[in-house]
Amino acid sequence: GGPAGLSCAYFLRMNGHAVTIFDAMPELGGMLMYGIPEYRLPKEVLKKEIDMILSMGVEVKTNTKIGCDIALEDIKKEYDAVIVAIGAWKSTKMNIPGEDFEGVYGGIDFLRNVAMSGVLHDSREKIVSTLGVGKRVAVVGGGNTAMDACRTAVRIGADEVYTLYRRTREEMPADPVEVEEAMEEGVVFKFLSNPLEIIGEDGKVKRIKVQKMKLGEPDASGRRSPVPIEGAFEELEVDAVIIAIGQSIDIEGFESLQTTRKRTIIADENTFMTSMEGVFACGDVTNAGPDIAIAAIGEAQKAAFSVHKYLGGEIDHIYGNIKEYDFYSKRELTPEDVREIFKDREIEYRPDIDIVEADIRRKNFKEFVPIYTEEEAQKEAMRCLECGCMDYFECKLIDYANKYGVAPERFEGDVHNRRKPSTHPHIVRDPDKCILCGLCVRLCEEVRGITALGLVGRGFDTIVEPEMRKVLEETECDSCGLCVSACPTGALVERQSLIKAVPLNERYIISTCGLCSKACGIKAAVYGNRVVRVLPALDTRNADVLCRKGRFMYIDVLSSNRLKSAYINDTECDVDKACGYIIEEIRKNTGKKVVFVSAGYTNELVDKVLVFADAIGAEVVSGALGQKQSEDNTAFFGVNEFGLRMKGIKAFEDAASLKEEIEKGDVSVLVSFGDPLDGISLDNVEFKAFMSLYMPKHEGVNAVLPDSSYFEINGTFTRKSEDGTVEDRKANACIRPIGGVDSSEILDILCGKVCG
Ligand code: SF4
Ligand code: SF4
Ligand code: SF4
Repeated sequence: GGPAGLSCAYFLRMNGHAVTIFDAMPELGGMLMYGIPEYRLPKEVLKKEIDMILSMGVEVKTNTKIGCDIALEDIKKEYDAVIVAIGAWKSTKMNIPGEDFEGVYGGIDFLRNVAMSGVLHDSREKIVSTLGVGKRVAVVGGGNTAMDACRTAVRIGADEVYTLYRRTREEMPADPVEVEEAMEEGVVFKFLSNPLEIIGEDGKVKRIKVQKMKLGEPDASGRRSPVPIEGAFEELEVDAVIIAIGQSIDIEGFESLQTTRKRTIIADENTFMTSMEGVFACGDVTNAGPDIAIAAIGEAQKAAFSVHKYLGGEIDHIYGNIKEYDFYSKRELTPEDVREIFKDREIEYRPDIDIVEADIRRKNFKEFVPIYTEEEAQKEAMRCLECGCMDYFECKLIDYANKYGVAPERFEGDVHNRRKPSTHPHIVRDPDKCILCGLCVRLCEEVRGITALGLVGRGFDTIVEPEMRKVLEETECDSCGLCVSACPTGALVERQSLIKAVPLNERYIISTCGLCSKACGIKAAVYGNRVVRVLPALDTRNADVLCRKGRFMYIDVLSSNRLKSAYINDTECDVDKACGYIIEEIRKNTGKKVVFVSAGYTNELVDKVLVFADAIGAEVVSGALGQKQSEDNTAFFGVNEFGLRMKGIKAFEDAASLKEEIEKGDVSVLVSFGDPLDGISLDNVEFKAFMSLYMPKHEGVNAVLPDSSYFEINGTFTRKSEDGTVEDRKANACIRPIGGVDSSEILDILCGKVCG
């Protein structure tokens, strides 16, 4: 149940497998819970993350140690696959005299004791006596565990804390910031000091004797070796010694698995399967041994994938081969390369963070690096260079490379550097990713009859360029996006509408474009509650190409200016209150009433509008009905032109005297459902209410309700094709309504109130 085990559970649940976690400790989290001090990772934050994983339906058996409470073989009999992710919980000993005295602790044992002692909120005096580490503490080691131990010793009340390290500060493996902060908190670093003996009295630690060292020749790791200085010793009076020089594996209970000489479990590098079929291992317990938590999490993702394959019958023998988890190719870049690639960007430095003063933070376990405010977090995220390939989730080249196990090293050679900033509003070109398949050029010419793109040059220097080497937006290109859809790589991609362009793992919803009466089939690419692209549905419903409007106008339809609330006389209120107000005002008014309904409404919404209009005794018209939008006169502006006509709704332009009546003030109540009513003066209308995507432009509107676009509702549009065939096309809600309540529900509320 540590970082590796929990991550395996997460990824296996994502693939639909039932998962049980066995953990020896009372709480899940492993080293993150018991090894990382509270001031670096608050338990509350960790618990929230664990709860998120458990809420996916993971069974948990804590206080269950394999080999003591249950045998590995028994678990294996009961489950189809087992992952061993027990971590490395044993502190490495120094093997010097005196390590058995009371007051000598292993680094991770000490940190675990602190985490489990409940001392985090106690007084410092109580902490010192509870944990019995005394006032003077020596920590041996130069890694991050040693830093955690010495800084924890400071926080639990030790007056003098020494860190003993046999090399110098430059060779310390600990994160430099940890060393810096430990020094600020008062930890005394004794470099070139190697413990020789722990000296005790009455069974308790009294002193530690250290050999003074100097640096000699570099060893195998490249670091200069410490060499004893003859006759140079030092003795420090201490109450406790914490030995934090490394971690090892407690292999008890797993003896049936093959291990390395370091007693870590051998796991296949590709499949993560151990020497026992069906038993996998990942994280600190395997092969090279302990590493940082994120390395264990990364391995866990791959191990879970391997187990998923195993359970699907794709690995059926010990050390069976599966293909590499993911193909990737990388370019080794020097800092100069990076500067050249991003030379058009301004350098933005990470904002300085004011951390809590050392004198204050050393007295408690509170997190001392403040979390970003929303604004700071956004600013920090804006520093992203957007270097990822936008086509990551769709690139055919990656698919094939994965499928056929392509090794990128085999194809090394010259590379182009021909990318230029793209200025086209919707299409981003990166010629360096082009494989010269020619699809974009042929589709533009043969399907669209436009020759906006062409292949220019010869051999290795061939490049796809806009016609006459113009910029794309100055060619005949009408932004249909067909070339982008066809491009198998990231050479032609759609410009993202997000503030930062990042590759998104989208889900797709088939629906109908609501922007004209052609009612083309669309495939909305959705991420979270955002439509991030609109593609042709590629089904039997005519649309293998969308027009620019259908393809890119979703950005305006779903813009941040959309109404997210209801209003009464410019004051924000909830939808129910605004509906109540509308009905009350209409009831009071005995004058002529008119209801407008949008030709972009579904049949189901129109039916509800008709019920409402009937109940208040209003005439119903539609502003956009009959308005042609395409140059070839084959399409009407309203997607449901024919649906409205079949329901007998009149076009506003055919209701001869109505405009005049409205402008003269002969109409007392006007309610518009989705019609903006541009070009009419409503100044003399006594009461006017709108259901609208945006705030209406008219002055003095009494009530406004938020409307839903064709991306936010379910329903049907009636379409008439050129041969006269009439058919219904389905709109499927792709995202939750931006206004919180969809227009169908709002109409139900209005109808309920007026009829009730
Ligand atoms: S967007 Fe359409 S018109 Fe423009 S280059 Fe691509 S295929 Fe041609
Ligand atoms: S479709 Fe993409 S990869 Fe193929 S030629 Fe065009 S830009 Fe290059
Ligand atoms: S606006 Fe009309 S033609 Fe364009 S994609 Fe939408 S339905 Fe098709």
